[in-house]
Amino acid sequence: MVGASVLYHLTKAGWKDVLLIERAELTSGSTWHAAGGMHTVNGDPNVAKLQQYTIELYKEIEQISGQSCGVHITGGLMLAGTRERLDWLKMAKARGRYLGMDLEIISVDEAARLFPLLDKKHFKGAMYDPIEGHVDPYGVTHAYAKSAQLGGAEIVRHTRVTDLKARSDGSWDVITDRGNVHAEYVVNAAGLWAREVGRMVGIELPILAMEHQYLITGDMPELKGKKEQLHCIDFEGELYIRQERGGMLLGTYEKAGVPWSPTETPWDFGQDLLANDLERIAPSLEVAFEHFPALGDAGIRKVVNGPFTFAPDGNPLVGPVKGLKNFWVACGVMAGFSQGGGVGLAMSRWLIDGDPGADIWGMDVARYGDWTTLAYTNAKVRENYSRRFSIRFPNEELQAARPLRTTPIYEKLQAANAVFGDYCGLEHSLWFAPTAQSAKDEFSFHRSNDFPHIAAECDAVKSSVGLLEISNYGKFEVKGPGAADWLSHVMANRVPAVGRIALTPMLNERGKLIGDFTMCRVAPEHFLLIGTYAAETYYLRWFERHLGAGVSVRPCAMEYVGLSIAGPKSRALLQELVRDDLSTAAFPFLSFKRMEIGMVPGYVGRVSFTGELGFEIWVTTDYQRALYDLLVDAGRKYDLRPFGGRALNCMRVEKSFGTWTREYRPIYGPLEAGLGRFVDLKKEEFIGRAAAMEERRGGGALRLLTFKLETRDADALGDEPIWHEGKVVGWVTSGAFGHRVNHSLALGYVPASIAGATSGFEIEIIGERHHAEPLSEAAYDAKGSRMRI
Ligand SMILES: Cc1cc2nc3c(=O)[nH]c(=O)nc-3n(C[C@H](O)[C@H](O)[C@H](O)COP(=O)(O)OP(=O)(O)OC[C@H]3O[C@@H](n4cnc5c(N)ncnc54)[C@H](O)[C@@H]3O)c2cc1C
Repeated sequence: MVGASVLYHLTKAGWKDVLLIERAELTSGSTWHAAGGMHTVNGDPNVAKLQQYTIELYKEIEQISGQSCGVHITGGLMLAGTRERLDWLKMAKARGRYLGMDLEIISVDEAARLFPLLDKKHFKGAMYDPIEGHVDPYGVTHAYAKSAQLGGAEIVRHTRVTDLKARSDGSWDVITDRGNVHAEYVVNAAGLWAREVGRMVGIELPILAMEHQYLITGDMPELKGKKEQLHCIDFEGELYIRQERGGMLLGTYEKAGVPWSPTETPWDFGQDLLANDLERIAPSLEVAFEHFPALGDAGIRKVVNGPFTFAPDGNPLVGPVKGLKNFWVACGVMAGFSQGGGVGLAMSRWLIDGDPGADIWGMDVARYGDWTTLAYTNAKVRENYSRRFSIRFPNEELQAARPLRTTPIYEKLQAANAVFGDYCGLEHSLWFAPTAQSAKDEFSFHRSNDFPHIAAECDAVKSSVGLLEISNYGKFEVKGPGAADWLSHVMANRVPAVGRIALTPMLNERGKLIGDFTMCRVAPEHFLLIGTYAAETYYLRWFERHLGAGVSVRPCAMEYVGLSIAGPKSRALLQELVRDDLSTAAFPFLSFKRMEIGMVPGYVGRVSFTGELGFEIWVTTDYQRALYDLLVDAGRKYDLRPFGGRALNCMRVEKSFGTWTREYRPIYGPLEAGLGRFVDLKKEEFIGRAAAMEERRGGGALRLLTFKLETRDADALGDEPIWHEGKVVGWVTSGAFGHRVNHSLALGYVPASIAGATSGFEIEIIGERHHAEPLSEAAYDAKGSRMRI
């Protein structure tokens, strides 16, 4: 189904010379036995938009192909059995507001009126979505396929791709059991076998198939003569239910999910099903029969157990693969009937125009790196499957596959009662508790048990000095006679002089933000680039596409681990350990130098994301323990206190400092994001310059604002709607309590036309609108004098 969608979208965008190769009959992977359910709601608003697009597309392909997709738009209910779930639904509804979704929170009585099979006593409320329903998997696949063929595409069936061989010009020999094809581009849309097709080109895609069961009941008298029942999700039962002819179809994401073919998918698996295992889903069925009593009497007509694939986070894997020319993937699509159209659209734009045309970071294959080994993927996919219908609280760190990657000071941070988070499989400290027993998050949408400790961490950074591990950044070493020119070409800001640091956005040709870096110049032909670690593969893919002569780029994230000290006493502390003069006259803000810290050689940069006087120290891994001990020992007399990522987040929001995937994404321009001063339009040439000029001339459509919020016990998290004079006008990108300024804050985008308004704003948090005052400058030390003292 995904391959057919990509094929259709390519022909629609004008490519005629395209071929789909199918091993057996169309649909003979996961598609043929799918339940066909579809919905628009998704945790990532950008994926939600593509889901909306997919559902709207069915009319179009039916019209072109004459093939029915069997679309039943019944409307849908998401049922909340707990207060927390109702809060979660209120947040989902709020997010839907700025996506133009018509979602509604309804009472249990209203839910029972819409879905009479439910027993009211198990529920607290529900969310109603008018655009949910189901389709016929066969019909959808063939509608895509026929539409593509009418657009000029070719489809060959009963032909298996057995190998892929790259030619030196970047094109591919596609080897099949019925002859070979020479192709300029290859898209791996092999669904259940995508992992195996990836292995043909030497990559291990992080996907795993899970067994999934649904059952269809016998005909139910309760449904006779009635309008078709709604599509319904019962989170507490981990169930989805919809009508299938005279009975109900009921599927579960059980806790004890089982992977299928964990290491190798058999090629002879066709339109087959797996053996039923009702025992495995018995706990969910018990809940189903309690929550929807009529189901218990209906009897089971049919059980389907089929495999389908997931990536570790449950989102698709889409896009060009780093390190391989012209090799693309469109796989790991677990909700194909909601997402398949959006995936095809993004792929076609990306292949043809060089840009997916939307913010698809959440689906980009480049969000994963080397840590996604087969066993890691297995652990994360099982966890994701078991939590498909679970609430993930904003302060909840998932536990599967941990700890995997640690830095040398991991045990030392543990001994200091760090509460750890997982970022790209790497443990990093979030906050520090007073005792080992209390080093645990209490999950909540509201402020939680970490609140007073984060406050104390921020206070230490403001009044004395704090110590933060900063190993979880991406780092690249850029070297060679062409290094400076190349950086000047790919980065929007001026390349710094030796010994200096420049902060710089990276733009695509459309002038949109695709990265933000700290660019440090070690020597005339030697730079260290520091950026977001999760985007390492994404950046490398871009770098290799634009690499010029005389320059080499090498990722070195885990070679240089780091520690940062920040606060007014940080200089005095570091000065005790280095021979170099750290005074502002000798080592001003944004300086960078190789130094010896005691016996430890490292790079020291005068910069801090906290907004205080601060230093970032980068050392090779073997020195990190010694550096940590040195700083902690010397720091005692300065009241040094460790702080974690959550305090850092509070402080960067107080400073209105944005960050990648939040404020900085490929849907925003630098001016819109408040990064205009880091774009050097005096440079004659760099990628995105013309578009950045245009943005400056026209002013851009959006503006990133900082808001001061009146809230009681919950702060904005991101994705909340921003209201202005009774209308939703924008969305929050980050929120936090600003402990140094003692109020709640949020960053978010609004239309540039109202960005100057000084009143009338509100931000909706867990279903309640709160007064939001736009600030004309950062909430904390707007002039930046504390960083420069
Ligand atoms: C029981 C069950 C219920 C489901 N319910 C839903 C639901 O309600 N809603 C929803 O949205 N999704 C549902 N899904 C998931 C849905 O099935 C998938 O999202 C979707 O089918 C993925 O489509 P695909 O094209 O990526 O993969 P596939 O259907 O696996 O297609 C891959 C195709 O590639 C071909 N192929 C592979 N390797 C080669 C090769 N080397 N050479 C040539 N051809 C090759 C295969 O033959 C196959 O036809 C369900 C899945 C299951 C198992």
